[in-house]
Amino acid sequence: DGVTDRNLEDAIYAFGFGPRCSYVKPFGAGHINETYAVYMPSPEGEDVLAYVLQRVNSNVFKDPAGVMENIFGVTEYMRGVIRREGGDPDRETLSYIKTKSGLNYFEDSEGEPWRCYNFIPDSECYQLVENPEQLYEAGSSFGHFLKQLIEYPASGLKETIPDFHHTAKRYQAFQVAVDRDLKNRAHTCEPEIAFVKNRKEDCSVLVSQQEEGVLPLRVTHNDTKLNNILFDSKTGKGLCVIDLDTIMPGLAANDFGDSIRSGATTGAEDEKNLDLVHFDLELYEAYVRGYLEAAGEVLTPAEVESLPWGARLMTLECGMRFLTDYLQGDTYFKTAYPEHNLVRARTQFRLVEEMEQQFEKMQELARKYAGI
Ligand code: ADP
Ligand code: MG
Ligand code: MG
Repeated sequence: DGVTDRNLEDAIYAFGFGPRCSYVKPFGAGHINETYAVYMPSPEGEDVLAYVLQRVNSNVFKDPAGVMENIFGVTEYMRGVIRREGGDPDRETLSYIKTKSGLNYFEDSEGEPWRCYNFIPDSECYQLVENPEQLYEAGSSFGHFLKQLIEYPASGLKETIPDFHHTAKRYQAFQVAVDRDLKNRAHTCEPEIAFVKNRKEDCSVLVSQQEEGVLPLRVTHNDTKLNNILFDSKTGKGLCVIDLDTIMPGLAANDFGDSIRSGATTGAEDEKNLDLVHFDLELYEAYVRGYLEAAGEVLTPAEVESLPWGARLMTLECGMRFLTDYLQGDTYFKTAYPEHNLVRARTQFRLVEEMEQQFEKMQELARKYAGI
């Protein structure tokens, strides 16, 4: 049914659906990978969406074998944990499917990697935060994810994007971009450059605690946005953490922080009117409560203290990356107009400022819900 792509067809056969598959069509609105929905006939004779088939973007993921190894290791382990919890492993984690020859991904005739997992029916996904309850559920889902994997050996995971959240190295890259000023744009963003330079020391706060062994490496997700959680359509509760490509060893504070950065805000990431962009303490509290109710008992006191820093630093790091890309001529993030990355950097810095102003309150709330 409209499938003309040789490689797509090869992939369908490689995963063993070939003769039984009803049809395949493009799925979702992802920007990174190419995604297809695979329909299979049900016993009742109708076609149902059963699998998600993806061609992985090998420009972004240079080590697709490492990515798949991380995902397989973690999801197989999760299935065991979920079974012991009395849950349903087919709904509460993604189940990746091996090829007919037993490999965890298929390489097509152009050398591009394909992988396949189960579609989770009766689930919903939210693009934007509409109320604190959703952030509570998001915190609960990512906290639960952390707790489920607390004994999984994080150091055995491949670091598929090296130094992803090494904020101090991100600062160095920013400094180089300012010094080179390749596009002669530095004069258009002097206040923003100064904003980052004034926070150079902050960039090392979490990295050095990790290097000193004060903060442990955990299994981290590294893309902890609301739209990477499936919610159960019937109960409205967080059901399954998805989008597992960036699972790597990392700090709990960074996963926590990126959720707060993207979720506890009143404006879009590229809102031009900064009067509309605020850090929302009520949304923060909802997330912290959900996160610590789920994971509080397995986090060390130092990790609890690191969470508000994670929020500040993930937001600063993200703004710094937007500003760096702006200075380098927009080669990394997709932009719709020339100042797009600068606009994005400004929203992040607005959030950082407000987090700094409310930092004590943020710390109090983390301690309160951790019971320390
Ligand atoms: P991307 O890396 O492009 O964000 P995702 O893996 O997050 O890709 O998938 C994009 C969207 O597709 C998700 O936000 C979700 O709405 C939907 N989706 C992905 N996997 C599943 C699944 N197993 N079951 C149901 N919906 C899914
Ligand atoms: Mg996603
Ligand atoms: Mg992704």
